[in-house]
Amino acid sequence: MNQKYDVIIIGSGIVGSMAARFLSQYEFSILVIEKEIDVGMCPSAANSAIIHAGFDPKPGTLKAKLNVQGNKMWENIAGELSVPMKKTGSLVAAIGQDEFTKLGELYERGISNGVPGMRLLKREELLNKEPLINPNATGALWAPSAAVIDPFTAVLASAENAAINGVQFLFETKFMGFIAENKKIIGIKTNKGDFFSRWVMNSAGLYSDEVMHSAGVRPDFKILPRKGEYLIFDASAVSLNNVLFQVPSEKGKGILVSTTTHGNVMIGPNSNPAEKKEDHATTGKGIEEVLEGSKKLVPSLQKKDIIAVYAGLRATGNAGKDFIVEIPKETPNFINIAGIESPGLASAPAIARMVIGLLKESGENLKPKVNWTPIRKATPCFHKLSHKEKAGLIKKNPAYGRIVCRCEEITEGEILDSMRSPIPAFTYDGIKRRTWLGTGRCQAGFDYPRVIEIISQELKIPITEVSKKGKDSEFIIRKTKGS
Ligand SMILES: Cc1cc2nc3c(=O)[nH]c(=O)nc-3n(C[C@H](O)[C@H](O)[C@H](O)COP(=O)(O)OP(=O)(O)OC[C@H]3O[C@@H](n4cnc5c(N)ncnc54)[C@H](O)[C@@H]3O)c2cc1C
Repeated sequence: MNQKYDVIIIGSGIVGSMAARFLSQYEFSILVIEKEIDVGMCPSAANSAIIHAGFDPKPGTLKAKLNVQGNKMWENIAGELSVPMKKTGSLVAAIGQDEFTKLGELYERGISNGVPGMRLLKREELLNKEPLINPNATGALWAPSAAVIDPFTAVLASAENAAINGVQFLFETKFMGFIAENKKIIGIKTNKGDFFSRWVMNSAGLYSDEVMHSAGVRPDFKILPRKGEYLIFDASAVSLNNVLFQVPSEKGKGILVSTTTHGNVMIGPNSNPAEKKEDHATTGKGIEEVLEGSKKLVPSLQKKDIIAVYAGLRATGNAGKDFIVEIPKETPNFINIAGIESPGLASAPAIARMVIGLLKESGENLKPKVNWTPIRKATPCFHKLSHKEKAGLIKKNPAYGRIVCRCEEITEGEILDSMRSPIPAFTYDGIKRRTWLGTGRCQAGFDYPRVIEIISQELKIPITEVSKKGKDSEFIIRKTKGS
């Protein structure tokens, strides 16, 4: 008989990983299953990376409440988990007089949602805050509680903290259906076998509709994915300090221009229906649309400075636009979380806290773990250290003296640490997301061969099995001439 868990969590995006971290405070045995080879593959790591202040969601919705609560909670949690977060504040910049009048509506909505510290800024104040802004700007809504975060590290750090506190993670493990007894869920079927538990939580993001349908819940709810494309600029070519939004119009929210925790300028996202839930491809048309749209806020942005493009998929639900966080009456041991589009990243800690609340309401006896730690430490980031610190680190571990990625100055020591952490990297992209290797101007042109070699040695696998992001993305097909 397989081990019986207290809780099985399906999906290790930000919602599943953060819930695992919160639940690990209690005497629970917890299993997280993830169909991909790593945590946070998409969309939790492919988004605008903004901890929104909370003036955008409609007052009275779960989105509005959890966004404002989550924003506040991240201040502490980012510190506990060593997640890079910059409290930049955000500006909704009005271009022209008509848009300035509309800022008042957003301000009022923010007040209803409980957003702290907002102010309407005049043109001069806006220009002082962001000199690159369109000279036709007339003013802005300033929300000081907004921040930018490293979204992948947010997921990884939550998962690592959960793992440190005893949560088990299984990757490349796909949910295939429920196991029920007398109409009660007692476990799940996966490609790696059956697992049994008292509770099952659905945090499968884009696939949350399919999971809930297997449990017989909300048969009419459907995720209709919408793609958002992004462009990243070379940090040495352009920089700004702010998160800049357009004033929303009937056409939508428009393209935002933002700084990131890594110092690059990022622009996006557009919003177009995606045919498939795995369609992460960017298009020439989309790139033009995003670049053109961004010029309304920062006209000086130039195509030649773009160094990377990516796309994320919104898990937009068909039934209204609010988050679903519930224990449905018909399946009393099933925690159902769905429709978590933006601001899901900002709201994740509040969603996790709400899950604990739902368990308590259902009569679950939550016994705190005596030795629970809220802390997850980051591994060293070599290029940010002083000369003295670098020398000390190299003395302790000579692998830190070997630079592998020249643009971003990432060392062999960082690569090995990322592969030996509580949630280890198994692929090139896994290492890249953890260390920022290969993200500079040369976009990995120099580091690939050495990293492939390191992965092969560390995992003790032939180089033909080393992959970019899991099965079917191997770099090397075969050896030539025996070399
Ligand atoms: C373009 C865009 C911009 C955004 N910008 C922001 C922003 O700036 N701020 C903000 O707060 N939010 C933003 N969001 C929203 C935010 O990214 C999401 O709300 C959040 O990432 C959702 O997390 P999740 O854990 O629910 O889902 P996901 O990240 O989708 O995680 C679900 C996980 O479940 C796994 N899974 C699915 N099916 C199965 C299965 N059958 N078996 C096992 N595992 C499975 C998936 O592989 C995945 O890892 C944005 C989203 C997009 C797309």
